[in-house]
Amino acid sequence: MRMQRTLAPTAAAVPPQALATAIGALFSHGARARERLARELKEAFHVEHVYLVTSGKAALTLILLALSRSSKRRKVIIPAYTCFSVPSAVVKAGLEIVLCDVLPKTLDFNPDRLAELVDDQTLCVVPTHFFGRPADIDLVVTLCRPRGVVVVEDAAQAMGGHSKGRPLGTIGDVGFFSLGRGKNLSCGGGGVVLTSSSQIGKAVQAEYQILPVESWGNSAKNLVELIATELLIRPSCYWLPAGLPFLGLGETRFYPTFPMERMGEARAATLVGWMQRLDALNAQRQLQGSRLEGDLKAQSAGVETIGSADGCCLRFPLLVRDRATKQALLQRGAAEGLGLSGSYPAIVQDIPELQGQLPSREFPGAAAVVERLVTLPTHQFVQPTDRRRVCQALIEMNAVTAVGTQGVIDPQPPGSQVRAAWRS
Ligand SMILES: *Cc1c(COP(=O)(O)O)cnc(C)c1O
Repeated sequence: MRMQRTLAPTAAAVPPQALATAIGALFSHGARARERLARELKEAFHVEHVYLVTSGKAALTLILLALSRSSKRRKVIIPAYTCFSVPSAVVKAGLEIVLCDVLPKTLDFNPDRLAELVDDQTLCVVPTHFFGRPADIDLVVTLCRPRGVVVVEDAAQAMGGHSKGRPLGTIGDVGFFSLGRGKNLSCGGGGVVLTSSSQIGKAVQAEYQILPVESWGNSAKNLVELIATELLIRPSCYWLPAGLPFLGLGETRFYPTFPMERMGEARAATLVGWMQRLDALNAQRQLQGSRLEGDLKAQSAGVETIGSADGCCLRFPLLVRDRATKQALLQRGAAEGLGLSGSYPAIVQDIPELQGQLPSREFPGAAAVVERLVTLPTHQFVQPTDRRRVCQALIEMNAVTAVGTQGVIDPQPPGSQVRAAWRS
């Protein structure tokens, strides 16, 4: 552990005033903060139904339970590369995981594989906006509608992002956000279900109303953790939690035993003024993302940009050359406190707890992402000197890159020109 400036991979500030309001809400009765939050979310996202729970995985589970009650179909198609919470939720809902490969250059479903997988046993498909980068929901809808398959949009990492003018999370039949640590907007832990379908809304409502509200103890614990996160997320302090492996920061876990609870008052109260906060946080991330892209472009010719400036750049994903480069880069990132992250450590099929439960298949795209994906931080604490150090590390590790958030940079041979451009 070294006492030095250390960036977290992501950060979402909570103003002290919101924390103070939440402490007050711990000791109040009623549901004012929750009702207000739900109302504001409906208005902001133009949806008919909103449900608030204590995690993104609980939100997904709630959706899956609701969908499964009125259908005999049991298969849920998820990306072969995704947050381990997603297969956890499928298992928790008693449904069957079906994995679909992804394309490394988009982190989205491989459309050919998806077309082969969707059938009349498929309950729903879960396209995912990784790092705030919009997935192609329209394509999934086109495949699913004619077959009576529901599109569940995983917008856990994309709250406040847009695609072609439409808010992410509201393009499919039903969607969810995570309000966990490391997400676009955080109340410690939280989840939001949103839909405009009256049929799905009714089914989710039926499941939601039998859930308990989180206990006072859970509310208090969450608030204490949120305050600790606020204090320690600063670059001057983050070396401390980053150096304590038992905190498991940034780890993704498979565990289907998570609680299913409605959100309490204190969590909702931490989100007062969430709209302005989210806008400011995402604007900052977009700005950092485009600066990073500019920095990376400036030192490598022949940049090919695809996609759009849509979305919200929760992190800046890129593919490095190979596994060894990724490991070397992450090691250097950890040593220098650069806020680099390798994201999920395995494809879903290789999660130890799922061994022997999924048919053994090849997922070359997802495997390549595990080997080569690195994310760069884009939060408000990233300074120009940090960006310079990150880019320097990329060049020196010879991590010729294919850049994700807003475009792709084709692999470039490393050259003295590149280095010269950086020094100057
Ligand atoms: C974080 C995340 C979830 C789960 O959200 P939690 O609030 O952590 O339970 C689901 N899907 C993706 C893609 C995520 O990043």
